[in-house]
Amino acid sequence: MLCHCQSLQPFAACCAPYLNRELSGQLAPTPLALMRSRYSAFVLGNGDYLLATWHPDTQGSLTSEELTEHGLNCQWLGLNIIFTRIEADGIHGVVEFKVRYREQGRVVLLHEQSYFERVAGRWLYRDGLINPPKIGANQPCPCGVTQHHIPKKYKHCCAKR
Ligand SMILES: [Zn+2]
Ligand SMILES: [Zn+2]
Repeated sequence: MLCHCQSLQPFAACCAPYLNRELSGQLAPTPLALMRSRYSAFVLGNGDYLLATWHPDTQGSLTSEELTEHGLNCQWLGLNIIFTRIEADGIHGVVEFKVRYREQGRVVLLHEQSYFERVAGRWLYRDGLINPPKIGANQPCPCGVTQHHIPKKYKHCCAKR
């Protein structure tokens, strides 16, 4: 079975180990892996995982039940990753993505830049910016990749994903 997060990897080799952490003992090693596993958790209605990977500072009064309900009430249509980056401090990260889902007959396109923080060794979702500014084709790629010490242009880097 292919993973729900559309990585084209088998579920068992992609998000499953993180969703079944009690069994596997594995934590999502990067903000991107966490982002993908959270998308899979929405598809599966795994509110416990969504809450456990939500930074306590920003989860407010959200409950596992609400997250489960939101996950199961939507039909998840796709996840596209725009770029991801881990900051130099090693404890902050960014994933920009587009998610499409159908809710009450309406298709929603969510374009978000999500911010992650590593707390006690675990990456957690902190918050996000909806509809972030468009990345220019000739801009240095926000993923931070360089070639011969020169930042790669977006059009030659993550735009090609
Ligand atoms: Zn996956
Ligand atoms: Zn890039």
